[in-house]
Amino acid sequence: MKRLKIRAHHLFCMLLFSGKGYDEKFSQNMNGIVCELRNNPEQSLILLKEPDDICSCCPNLLQGECILGNEDVINKDETVLSGLKLEAGKEYTYKEILDVILNSEISEIFKNCCGDCRWHRIGLCSCGQLVENCRTYSKG
Ligand code: SF4
Ligand code: SF4
Repeated sequence: MKRLKIRAHHLFCMLLFSGKGYDEKFSQNMNGIVCELRNNPEQSLILLKEPDDICSCCPNLLQGECILGNEDVINKDETVLSGLKLEAGKEYTYKEILDVILNSEISEIFKNCCGDCRWHRIGLCSCGQLVENCRTYSKG
């Protein structure tokens, strides 16, 4: 089984993915990764705070940096890593990560990571939906 590379704040983005993305290539790739993890909770992934298997198909990745604000996305990664007490460069199963999210102070972490994100501001991402989806996927 391939080990996925996932930057930390994308744990939230994957849980809230509803098919909308930056372009067709991005959405297809994201959908493939999300489906793979939902269907195989024992799938391993390595957490990162740098471009990952989702960024690799994103039109906003230029010369290894996110043009939407490289520092901003790294800050989001660090917020999620420290909030969930997870480590960059370490390998986890998706099930382990879902359990960590469900046992965390998620509303505070979500606010710090997602509060200023435009997808949250236009109403596409909410903490309540994140928790609901997390519960659903952790049951398999
Ligand atoms: S609000 Fe932004 S960072 Fe947060 S899950 Fe949604 S798309 Fe990702
Ligand atoms: S390149 Fe930027 S906008 Fe694109 S998926 Fe990565 S962090 Fe998100």
